[in-house]
Amino acid sequence: MSDAGRLAGAPVLAFRGPELLLDEASGRPAPPPADARVVDRFDARDGLPAAWTLAADCPAPAGTAWTTVRSLLGTDPWTSLKPALKALAILNWRASSRFCGRCGAPAADKADEIARVCTACGSIVYPRLSPAILAVVTKGGRLLLARNANFKGGIFSLVAGFVEPAESFEECVVREVLEETGVEVGAPRYRASQGWPFPDSLMVGFEAEWISGEIRPDGVEIAEARWFSPDDPPPLPLPGSLSRALIDAAFGRIGGEPQAPFTMPAPS
Ligand SMILES: [Zn+2]
Repeated sequence: MSDAGRLAGAPVLAFRGPELLLDEASGRPAPPPADARVVDRFDARDGLPAAWTLAADCPAPAGTAWTTVRSLLGTDPWTSLKPALKALAILNWRASSRFCGRCGAPAADKADEIARVCTACGSIVYPRLSPAILAVVTKGGRLLLARNANFKGGIFSLVAGFVEPAESFEECVVREVLEETGVEVGAPRYRASQGWPFPDSLMVGFEAEWISGEIRPDGVEIAEARWFSPDDPPPLPLPGSLSRALIDAAFGRIGGEPQAPFTMPAPS
């Protein structure tokens, strides 16, 4: 295992929504407070520590702090956060799979794997992933970045979107770029992927070249889109995300500290 880091060896991860309870002095996971109301929990299995979801109003005991897992991605190696990322993904899924989607009866944990089984009709449900693409679109020495209407702080990022039923990743890239910016691109090529449990995405990055079209933001999801050169980058997403890693890799080295290109951990 390559899980060295502040989460290594923690017997229990205590969550409050997307936040993890950390000891302020050591930065390591703090145990759930003895008097906390537990909303959901699962036991340790297959190298994954136990994880508890505590009530949304659970205060942090003295010397501890609630910290979003997303913010840790900006400071800790992605591989060292895998226990928290996986636990968060499973807790998110558990919170939305308490009842059978087929017949509405309560669902129970399946004993031998991470799954839910319906207590009435036996339907089995596994943790759900929502695949989404990221598109690195280039035209000469410039990169297409878009400002989502919901982004805060004037952040520009890659065109992104969820894969539709019966659609391939490549078709999704072409469709999303055209819909959101009016730009037509050539055949997309796979770059890298990242599990993104906020709440249940799998981000899959592609690159493609501009073929035709002037930028016309859709005006709904995308408020603004432009071509950017490496020497004039806009505000970008925080480090730790695949989108930021792909942007940095595409720009090469952009202002401030150099960022290593995103790499996936080696399979264990
Ligand atoms: Zn059922």
